Amino acid sequence: TGLGSQITRFAPSPTGALHLGHAASALLAARAAGEGGRFVLRIEDIDPQRCRPAFETALFEDLRWLGLRWAEPVRRQSEHWADYRATLEALATRGLLYPCFCSRAQVADTLAALSAPHRAPDGSARYPGTCRTLSAPVRSARIASGAPYVLRLDMMAALDLLGGEPAWEEIAVGRVQGAAAAFGDVVLARRDVPASYHLCVTHDDALAGITLVTRGVDLRPATAVHRVLQDLMGWPRPRYWHHSLACDAQGRRLAKRDGALGIGTLRRDGCDPRVVAEQALSLIGCG
Ligand code: GLU
Repeated sequence: TGLGSQITRFAPSPTGALHLGHAASALLAARAAGEGGRFVLRIEDIDPQRCRPAFETALFEDLRWLGLRWAEPVRRQSEHWADYRATLEALATRGLLYPCFCSRAQVADTLAALSAPHRAPDGSARYPGTCRTLSAPVRSARIASGAPYVLRLDMMAALDLLGGEPAWEEIAVGRVQGAAAAFGDVVLARRDVPASYHLCVTHDDALAGITLVTRGVDLRPATAVHRVLQDLMGWPRPRYWHHSLACDAQGRRLAKRDGALGIGTLRRDGCDPRVVAEQALSLIGCG
């Protein structure tokens, strides 16, 4: 690939069957590691409602069938809550986190009453900051009363501290200017789970020493949030390669529900894994 040796990763969530798009992403990451590089597989399974052991088992089989080999041991995020807690504590100590007691319905109601943009670039509800200004005694009292809460990053405070919005380097694109403020005060610890995607993904990329993050272009905007966390924590700054998303013949983005294009189905149907791998990479324009 001309990128030299890189430490790359594929970080699937075992919430469904792998399809050609996932295969492409995994193959691209493995290829981008290059001669003498390292390809890391990580299981992003913090969501107990959506993740299933059976999907994880199938995922390993599918990736092996495609000819992929990865560094062992494989990290499973659900086994490392203490790591994420330590990161949250480091941010909390600097006054960058606050507890938010709003339910989803409350956030939706508040947003409906505002004329400001409701949505973050990833489609999630952009939090209007209701709980940011609660006084310390009120916070303590609510926590003591057992009210459930999430922990949010005070994004404006973070951006002030860092001197503005982040930018990063992307393969084939160059410098990309981020817009973390558009995400607002993102959740770093959920009610049901003491961590969140943004927190775990950046922590684990840093821990593994990932030098090049390859993933679908749908995650490009979220990179701004990730770069903010990296800079706040003093973690290394990886480069990024956001590839185009795999679509079906009708131009619709492949989804985990599209069983027909599932790798497991192709595997059981006796397809040639090399042909499937080539097809997958050509779907994202990397054939
Ligand atoms: N676990 C995420 C997903 O399956 C990918 C995270 C990433 O590559 O940054 O969508």
